[in-house]
Amino acid sequence: MPRYVKCISFFMVKCYNFGVVMYMESIYNKTFDELVAYFETIGEKKFKATQVFDWLYVKRVKSFDEMSNIKKDIIDKLKEDFVIGNIELDSVERDVEVNKYLFVLSDDNHIESVLMRHDYGTSICISSQVGCNMGCRFCESGRVKRIRNLTAGEMVEQILKVEEDIGNRITHVVIMGIGEPFDNFDNFKRFVEIINYQKGINIGSRHITVSTSGIIPKIREFASFPYQVNLAISLHAPNDEIRNDLMPINKVYPLKDLIKEIKNYIKTTNRRVTFEYILLDGINDSITCANELCDLVQGLNCYINLIPYNETNNFGYKRSKKETISQFYDIIKKRKINVTIRREFGTNISAACGQLRSKKEDL
Ligand code: SAH
Ligand code: SF4
Repeated sequence: MPRYVKCISFFMVKCYNFGVVMYMESIYNKTFDELVAYFETIGEKKFKATQVFDWLYVKRVKSFDEMSNIKKDIIDKLKEDFVIGNIELDSVERDVEVNKYLFVLSDDNHIESVLMRHDYGTSICISSQVGCNMGCRFCESGRVKRIRNLTAGEMVEQILKVEEDIGNRITHVVIMGIGEPFDNFDNFKRFVEIINYQKGINIGSRHITVSTSGIIPKIREFASFPYQVNLAISLHAPNDEIRNDLMPINKVYPLKDLIKEIKNYIKTTNRRVTFEYILLDGINDSITCANELCDLVQGLNCYINLIPYNETNNFGYKRSKKETISQFYDIIKKRKINVTIRREFGTNISAACGQLRSKKEDL
């Protein structure tokens, strides 16, 4: 299958300087209900959608021709309307507990996914956009503005390709790779619907976590999302002064409003929120910061995940010293707030969010 198909298609149209290239839609982009609707519009029975989902997600075929219980004329129609997948594996870096995958998309952009092995299973961290418009000052992904959103199909395919590589099923999914998922909200929702579908990939919603830099209107919308997906908030600072410097989004949605929205989310959903807090040497890791952080989240149904910073060459930030991290942790623990220090994965293999892509694309 050529990486991109220059042909007339009714679906995804991408414009480039050199003209118009039309891409065929990946069938992985369709939710089950949409596939049912598709079969209805072409005058076929609904159960064809069940059969196709089974071929794609249970039997994992790579071509429509392998769908042996589907009639030839329907196979031809499917081939006319869809491709089976449109991302390709570029390279993998492997370590004991972590594999880092670089994928190339049909428009030659690159994204990355990380597989992590835990005692409770395997998790995958997937990308949701090419680049990110949030521009956080410590993050490789935010160094380049969003080029485009990933389709739900491209998110789904990261899971399929990694499962194929490891020869096993992934148990947990986190949307914490390149991009801001709440800035690609519709595709994020569609992605969850596809991977959660029981007769498909079937990843339970409680095994899915989405991380956001704090886009308030989307947090509000997410509170009524009918899937019990876990929410993580990239906090990284205990006050507006530091957060404004680290995360420009804070100037649009300051901490007071963010915390108010999170309270509303917890009240509506009755679910616990995770706060991610990267510890940056001399920036946000003082005793005062630890106490301010506790004051900020006190009383919320939450836990704090302290993240040792993965240093990259492109920013001046340094990871906090081991003793500082321990001291920060102890202060929070004493205040009886749930806290963990994130286990480290892949510092040896460029595992910080967006680093592989930066290397590959020379960004
Ligand atoms: N855009 C979303 C999700 C992707 S970023 C968000 O910001 O939440 C996922 C997490 O990785 C965020 O908490 C982010 O702050 C963190 N991160 C980014 N660069 C990092 C680095 N160099 N070291 C450690 N964590 C990093
Ligand atoms: Fe974007 Fe998240 Fe990186 Fe900020 S931390 S630039 S929101 S990917």
